Amino acid sequence: MRFPAGLGIKMEHVQTVLAIPILQEDSGVLGVIELYRQFSTDSFTQEDEEVTATLLVWADVCVEYVQMYNSMMRQRKLNDFLLAVTKSIFQDIVSMDTVIMKIMNYAKKLVNADRASLFLLDTKTTELYARIFDTGKEHVPQKEIRFPMDKGVAGHVASTGQVLNITDAYNDGRFNREVDMQTGYRTKSILCMPIYIRGSIIGVVQMVNKKEGTFTMADEESFETFAIYCGLALHHAKLYDKIRRSEQKYKVALEVLSYHAQCTDDEYKIIKSTPFPDNIPGIIDYEFSPWDVEDNRKCLYVLYMMKDIFSMATKKNENEKRYDLDDMIRFTMTVKKNYRNVPYHNWAHAFSVAHAVYTVIKTTKHSFSPVECLALYVACLCHDLDHRGKTNAFMVKSASPLAAIYSTSTMEHHHFNHTVTILQNEGHNIFKHLTSDQYKQILGDIRQCILATDLALFFGNRARLQEVSDKNEFSWDDSEHRHVLMAISMTACDLCSMYKPWDVQLQVVNVIMEEFWLQGDEEKSQGLTPMPMMDRDKKDELPHLEVGFLVGICLPCYELMAQVLPNTKPMVDGAVSNLKKWKYLAENKLTVDQLPPEQCVKQLEYKTSENILDSSEKNKQTEKDDSDEQNKLDAKAENKDEQTEESKMESVEENKNKSIDNPSEKGSLLTDVRSESSVLVHSDNDNNLTEHDNT
Ligand SMILES: [Zn+2]
Repeated sequence: MRFPAGLGIKMEHVQTVLAIPILQEDSGVLGVIELYRQFSTDSFTQEDEEVTATLLVWADVCVEYVQMYNSMMRQRKLNDFLLAVTKSIFQDIVSMDTVIMKIMNYAKKLVNADRASLFLLDTKTTELYARIFDTGKEHVPQKEIRFPMDKGVAGHVASTGQVLNITDAYNDGRFNREVDMQTGYRTKSILCMPIYIRGSIIGVVQMVNKKEGTFTMADEESFETFAIYCGLALHHAKLYDKIRRSEQKYKVALEVLSYHAQCTDDEYKIIKSTPFPDNIPGIIDYEFSPWDVEDNRKCLYVLYMMKDIFSMATKKNENEKRYDLDDMIRFTMTVKKNYRNVPYHNWAHAFSVAHAVYTVIKTTKHSFSPVECLALYVACLCHDLDHRGKTNAFMVKSASPLAAIYSTSTMEHHHFNHTVTILQNEGHNIFKHLTSDQYKQILGDIRQCILATDLALFFGNRARLQEVSDKNEFSWDDSEHRHVLMAISMTACDLCSMYKPWDVQLQVVNVIMEEFWLQGDEEKSQGLTPMPMMDRDKKDELPHLEVGFLVGICLPCYELMAQVLPNTKPMVDGAVSNLKKWKYLAENKLTVDQLPPEQCVKQLEYKTSENILDSSEKNKQTEKDDSDEQNKLDAKAENKDEQTEESKMESVEENKNKSIDNPSEKGSLLTDVRSESSVLVHSDNDNNLTEHDNT
């Protein structure tokens, strides 16, 4: 009577039945087992019941394990699938469209759907749109589909964030038939899911027509996980698109600019048709004034010197072609064009520094290789390319993009990069006849030389060379020795105005100050307090500043040069002569216009030079300590990159205080500013060539 539907199976002669439930701990009844007896009237005994129940406990366990195994396998399949999706999507994000195509293909496979579509949200117009539509056919040109974000199933999902699983689309009020009408396709079942990025909906994926039956709960679950990956991939693709667009914009800008930054054909022709000087009298004198060379003659002088240095390289093999005059003309003219019209760091300064190094190369008994001489000369010519008349510290303070690219030796890195850019212009590669090894070497040397013009690096370079030189261990065969001498030569030549005759020195100091004061003015206009030497209201302090600069940096540099290359002694003599005058002015609180006639200063010379002797003696003593300390600091810096900046800053501070023996505090300020970038050290050393290539 309790079983009106009878037994589980139809049988005629069933006499007795034993039915026992199969129970599971968390899901209750899993099933029922029925045991029948057809031909015996014996009923099942208590013992039969117990035996069956015991066996069923084992059956329960087996069933449970099978279920667990199946669900694990499903999860694993999903994981494998998602991993493959992620790999494939992220491996080649070529464009947004490719990513969308991939997402749709994978989504279809995942839930076994016939079609898939991905609608993105246009937040400006609050519309959903799809540029690529799954038509089932490949490479069919498609029109963009767009509709308001509250329309249709996709619209509902986009505006509510709710997942929709619809078994019969045409019976659902939310279904928008327009898309079917546009694509000519008949939609039956739909699974539609939102895609989020950082908590907001960026689009929806819609799966259409499950191939067998309708979309299940399991489809929904796996699809939910998949949607997270879609969000990430779309976000990346969007960023990538953005980057690619700005890269293209940058390339166009670069093309335009480099066209205008190159010398024109007319400019080239003018130089080409000017007779080339065979000999320039007095050009290798240390007292020669590059600033007095007429502006349009400077290029010819540069070419004259460059050709001479290139010819040194050809001496071993007369027939070997090492340079191309046309390239040299274009290179020189373009370099000239890429110096800005600032008071001091302009083409005239570049010319003077190139001339200074040419003088050193021509007058000393050095053993630099021809390629090294060439590197020195070209580095000097290019060492301040595109200088904006502002110090590194100013670039950092004013958050210039350059300071963001190069955190240390900001401008120097830029000068070098600009040099490489010019060399890469068509018809500008003056090094094209070098072997590839030499080419690599010369670029490396030029880089090192240009970076060495950052005064912050001077103290370290000087300490290294001083140590070698003091121990009489300088060896031309040691490439490290040669390179540190090249670095010191760069500083000596960069500061060449400081050893020029008094009137030339004065003329140059005026333009340097003009540039500094302009920076000071700009700082004042931004509400900042410039350093005293950048402040035109404090111009009376100039003699003190010059004394500090000469004693703190120039003379130690020139003396070291003269120690290794005795023929550079005129640098020391010139600087000492100027120092006497600045000291006289400083001690008597006079301005430059008040300097008595030469005769008057000469009478005071003895007294003044005694003071200098005093100070250089003291200098000698502190120098040793300096270099020891510097070495220690250097060793420390090598070990701990992160501490480099700090310890170098300290060492520079110490150097300043020790080597400037007497000058008043005001005097040492000049050293402060001219080596203001002293906080900066070469921490990002070797990436530069590649950096350049990347840009
Ligand atoms: Zn310079």
